[in-house]
This record gives sequence, C-alpha cells and structure tokens, in this order.
Amino acid sequence: MRTPVVAGNWKMNPPTAAEAVELARAVAASAPAGDQVTTVVCPPTVWLSAVREALGADGVAVGAQTMHFEEKGAFTGETSPLMLAGLASFVIIGHSERRQYDGETDERVGRKVASAVAHRLRPIAAVGERAEERAAGATASVIDRQVRAALANLDGLGGTGLVIAYEPVWAIGTGDAATAADAQEVCGQIRAILRELDPEAADEVPIQYGGSVTAENAAELFAQPDIDGALVGGASLKPEQFETILRAAAGA
Ligand code: PEP
Repeated sequence: MRTPVVAGNWKMNPPTAAEAVELARAVAASAPAGDQVTTVVCPPTVWLSAVREALGADGVAVGAQTMHFEEKGAFTGETSPLMLAGLASFVIIGHSERRQYDGETDERVGRKVASAVAHRLRPIAAVGERAEERAAGATASVIDRQVRAALANLDGLGGTGLVIAYEPVWAIGTGDAATAADAQEVCGQIRAILRELDPEAADEVPIQYGGSVTAENAAELFAQPDIDGALVGGASLKPEQFETILRAAAGA
C-alpha cells in the first residue's frame, strides 16, 4: 500500500563535487531495481546539480537537506523552492540539526512543508524528542506538537507526497538507535494523528525511522507495521551499508 522511502542524508559531506558524484554513482549502481523502495540521496545544496546530472532522470531520487519557504527575497545564503525545481524531488524539512543550530521553529517547519508541497517537492518532515524530553516522559507530547505544527498549513494529505521521519534526537549519530518496539510505538502515534487529520489519506504517508540506522538493525525496524523506510545519516555515506538498508526496505 505504501512504498517505503529510504533517504540518505549526507549532511555536510563529502567535501568535493567529484566525491559527491562518485558516492551518488555507487548508490545508483547498488540500489535495488523495481519499485519496492524509493531511494533518495540528499547531498549538500552546492552538490545538488552535479549529483542530479550524474544520476540521470530515473532510479535514485535527489533530495535537498533544507529550503526556505519563500520563492525569492532578501534571505542571504538560503535556497528557494523555485531553485530546487529540476534538481530535487524531495526536501528534508525540520531536521533536528537545523532546529538546534539554525533556529528552525515548529512554525517555520509548517510553512516550509506547505511551500514544498505547493512547489511539487515531497517534504520529509522530521520530528523527534531530545534526550531530556524523553527522560521527562514528554516524548508523546513533543511528537504531537511537532507533527501537528508541520502539517498545520496543509488542506489535506492526499496527493501531497508527504513523508514523515521520526528521528529521536538522542539516537542521531550516537550509535544508540531506538529499539524497534519503541520506534514503532512513536510511529504508530504519528499514524494515529494522521488518521485524525485526514482519515482517507493517512495510510498513504510513509513514516520513516531515523537515528543510527545500520545494515544490522534496518530489517527489524522495517518489519514494524508503521515504519516505512528510514532517514539515514552516517550509513548513507557507506554505499555497501546503504545498499543493505535499501534491500531490507525492499524486502519488508
Ligand atoms: C540523520 O542525520 O538524520 C541521522 C539519522 O543520522 P545517523 O543515521 O547518523 O544517526
């Protein structure tokens, strides 16, 4: 019913265009054929063009790591949704590193998600609780707030191409992934919110897990009923590991 989406978030890597092209080609060469999984690579903005060109039109999709919600204006250093046309078909919105270091607020995430949809980009809206919020037993309330804010400016979910990534902040880049059961519990909560907001289309929306996904833990995560792929950081820079994750999603 839902095609899983596995997206590699390359963050601020690699340092040169040549290495970005090499990595993209390695992913394309090993990505499973067929339509059982949607494979996405999200290079730094400055390498989007080279990666898009290297990948050609079919197969692996390209995503941006962020964007501004406005089409143009005095926003130094930003990238507009119009600029992503032809380069990216996905865009990560609200990654915790942008929330932490770049002042990404719930309100701005909501504006960006709506702008992405309006510009026919599939938003990967990232939500997740911080370690101290988890310790305080606030995971469910943080997720509820972030998901509703991310979707606040959409009229409905049908046809939007929306993807939600549940990424507990304490699990990102730490090697301490959530257990499959804990990740499923939160992804199930997200599904329930989607059903409340749009009962007809809620089941169309892939919900990814992200946070120290590896070749070793991917299959167990993807076996959960509400986990439809992953947002992968570190392991997406290692083509053999990323391939195993892709194949686990294709076989789930
Ligand atoms: C991420 O950057 O979104 C991420 C999940 O990173 P990692 O897989 O390295 O934990």
